[in-house]
Amino acid sequence: MGKVIAVANQKGGVGKTTTCINLAASLAATRRKVLLIDLDPQGNATMGSGVDKYEVENTAYELLVEEKPFADVVVKDTQGKYDLIAANGDVTAAEIKLMEFFAREVRLRNALAPIRDQYDFIFIDCPPSLNMLTVNAMSAADSVLVPMQCEYFALEGLTALIDTIGKLASMVNPGLGIEGILRTMYDPRNRLANDVSDQLKQHFGEKVYRTVIPRNIRLAEAPSFGAPAMYYDKSSAGAKAYLALAGEIIRRGEQTQAKKQA
Ligand code: ADP
Ligand code: MG
Repeated sequence: MGKVIAVANQKGGVGKTTTCINLAASLAATRRKVLLIDLDPQGNATMGSGVDKYEVENTAYELLVEEKPFADVVVKDTQGKYDLIAANGDVTAAEIKLMEFFAREVRLRNALAPIRDQYDFIFIDCPPSLNMLTVNAMSAADSVLVPMQCEYFALEGLTALIDTIGKLASMVNPGLGIEGILRTMYDPRNRLANDVSDQLKQHFGEKVYRTVIPRNIRLAEAPSFGAPAMYYDKSSAGAKAYLALAGEIIRRGEQTQAKKQA
């Protein structure tokens, strides 16, 4: 069954959207069926997938508020070879409108229920705040992937986030787990980054992905071409790192399956 992964960190600029776009494309390149849901009104994941947020007809607003059928809202086969639920400024209105509904925390979960099985992976790009959209993402997800920069205070922020995820989970989604912690924009020459990285591994052990995403200019440039880095410069360190991450996630999934069957 399709795995739903919320990509979240209440901090902005840590690489949530970059991770969504490039990981979705990398998994799609290994013939997995992938859906990316942009829940950030900034619509960066939408633009970075080659879909014009100003032109797109339907967004997460139509899915969550108007209850339009998924098939009418989804943008099929984007530049990254995955499907997309787009976002733009309308999604800000969704956040407000959601407050009017009964069972407002589970609108996304309900909207995805009929189509989950069509995908191997569904990623949700969360806004950098803890609003009703993020709550919807957390209640729809099986697990949370947390991208983070290894800088001073990062661990504090991470502990706070994991605390919040735990609290939310106990209210709306008791099965919610941490999928993994991803070190992004990593510079191995930076001593502080190395120290924080070591502490991260001490605290969170196996939850920290072995794959590290380096700081790489191609990852920052690719969105302006409306494509994931692997279609813009496939030999770049950034594109390769996200392909490696996709491999790690697939292997982890297989190991979990094997353990369950044993
Ligand atoms: P978030 O979604 O958490 O706000 P983004 O993915 O939008 O973060 O990243 C913030 C900025 O940093 C963007 O301009 C993005 O292009 C850039 N960026 C993200 N990851 C990398 C990386 N590994 N190397 C270089 N630039 C990056
Ligand atoms: Mg973002």
